[in-house]
Amino acid sequence: METVDFSGKMFVFTAPSGAGKTTIVRHLLKTFDFLDFSVSATTREKRKNEQHGRDYYFYSKEEFDELKRKRKFVEWEEVYDEQYYGTLKSEIERLWNLKKHIVFDIDVRGAKDIKRKYGKQCLAVFVKPPNFEVHVARLKNRNTESEASLKKRISRIKREMRYENKFDEVLINDDLETALKGAERLILDFIKK
Ligand code: ADP
Ligand code: 5GP
Repeated sequence: METVDFSGKMFVFTAPSGAGKTTIVRHLLKTFDFLDFSVSATTREKRKNEQHGRDYYFYSKEEFDELKRKRKFVEWEEVYDEQYYGTLKSEIERLWNLKKHIVFDIDVRGAKDIKRKYGKQCLAVFVKPPNFEVHVARLKNRNTESEASLKKRISRIKREMRYENKFDEVLINDDLETALKGAERLILDFIKK
């Protein structure tokens, strides 16, 4: 574990579903104890092995709408039809209070919102598999999605890849070890700034 002096940085990992964000983010959280994860709110179904408060805050559509109405979100998106995701202001406050640098795993539009809002405090990283075929194969092999959900996610990959050059860094996720080392380097270099 490495530690640093606190200065409130934000690391946003973004990409289409299946690119490897979760894998990379989990590795970073294990490696650096000065990082903590921004747990998002969502209306999607909980997957087996997921926990409320650890992976997401799982809410009904009504609860999510109420949070929207009360302006509790820094950003939110309907990432898939009828599936809402958002970053709660209270989550950022919670992590600042713990004096942690924050890691986000959010979609490309939410990532742009956070980057716009926090500017130089934030490093936004686009995660990119070597090609479309490998990307789709990883998503299928993950075995977490129904046929319908898989279809939705695949149809969005090409659209979201257009955002590739809109962030601070592109991290190629081909060989996993290389990508994880690359991610560690991005964190350490940005922390020093
Ligand atoms: P995301 O969070 O972007 O949706 P995941 O981290 O869940 O993506 O990765 C999608 C799937 O691909 C997972 O099953 C994961 O174990 C696998 N995976 C991620 N990176 C690699 C890699 N470099 N090589 C092979 N498989 C990978
Ligand atoms: P999944 O359902 O696979 O966990 O996530 C689907 C997509 O929603 C991913 O691209 C993920 O990064 C994104 N996502 C998760 N949390 C948030 C959030 O708080 N805001 C936004 N805009 N997207 C999110």
